Amino acid sequence: MSKQAVLWINGTFYTPGKIIRNGSMLVNTEGKIESIGSNPIDSPPNTLVKDLKGRTILPGFIDIHVHGGDGFSVMNATFEDLNGMSIFHAKNGTTSFLATTTTSSREKTQNALDCAARSLKVGLNGADLLGVHLEGPFINEKRRGAQNKSEIRKPDLVELEDYLMASGNSIRLVTIASEVENGMKAVNYLADKGVTVSIGHSDATFQQVNEAVSNGVSHTTHHFNGMRPLHHREPGVAGAGLMLTELTTELIGDGIHVHPEVVKFLFETKGAGKVCMITDAVFCAGLPDGDYDSVTVSEGQVYLKDGSSLAGSSLTMIQALKNVMNFTGYSLEQILPSLTLVPARQIKVDEYKGSLEKGKDADFLIVDDELSILSTCVKGREVFSSEHEIESITN
Ligand SMILES: [Zn+2]
Repeated sequence: MSKQAVLWINGTFYTPGKIIRNGSMLVNTEGKIESIGSNPIDSPPNTLVKDLKGRTILPGFIDIHVHGGDGFSVMNATFEDLNGMSIFHAKNGTTSFLATTTTSSREKTQNALDCAARSLKVGLNGADLLGVHLEGPFINEKRRGAQNKSEIRKPDLVELEDYLMASGNSIRLVTIASEVENGMKAVNYLADKGVTVSIGHSDATFQQVNEAVSNGVSHTTHHFNGMRPLHHREPGVAGAGLMLTELTTELIGDGIHVHPEVVKFLFETKGAGKVCMITDAVFCAGLPDGDYDSVTVSEGQVYLKDGSSLAGSSLTMIQALKNVMNFTGYSLEQILPSLTLVPARQIKVDEYKGSLEKGKDADFLIVDDELSILSTCVKGREVFSSEHEIESITN
């Protein structure tokens, strides 16, 4: 939060459904957007005025599926890890995120959730932590991808309740295979608690997905990856995600996890309003090619060492945006909701995140014509600049 209101003038602002040229945005001392519109707009005395000189302002990206980056990992369960990844991803356009777990022992999962709960209270120095995405352990072994096979378990409501407690009720999204024993019970339990339920790492049939949707599932995890694929006699999870309008589909837009033509097809079929772009980035995102622990990074792609599966990505949100614009031929304003309003809506934070609108957090990016990020601001506070050092940040 800045102690002074800031009036940003002479910018091109991307707001929902409208690009405001020669616009201004007033950010109040609470780090919220007080007003936004064409020049000039009123501001209180003592307001700091900053001239954008025609540059473009985008709403910050919201990554609801990210495990780490720059050597840091959610599962290490330390504040330094969450803080480190929040700074790395802020540099790449993310202004808020869900700390995403992976299939692990009960103890390790609990530790990661404890850490997220503590970090939520303190706040991070980069992107804003919004809570947790629990990916596993309640998934189908058959579609595990790189998830740890020995730790996959059947959904257990007591265990889920413990996790919700440990996280300080900050679990906003759970990836689950609804077709396994107790799966639907868990779907109902979570939906009742207001947690968004995503079907993923799942071998469900179309009929089983349909049933899950009628029990409250509204999302799919990294669509096409780790799920029963589309077959014309059994559309599976992949087909159900395409056909059922209740489902919003996550997408890893690196062109490797999903072929560029299929990315285009997904946008054309679902529309940007039902595609939720994520990175699924792991700790080695941002690190050079090489061998790390159990994975190998080669040409920016992350594989299990035995080569049996992709193991997350090294993608960033800004790179995903550029890729998907390129794959689809869609414009910036057409793709933008998939990185902003859609994730905000899916995890129910769209009242205060996800767009440049009056009353919302001033989470925004200043970019040049090539979409290089010049500055990232979270709740009005600059957390990254390509042009100068960021003054020491205190929470
Ligand atoms: Zn993941």
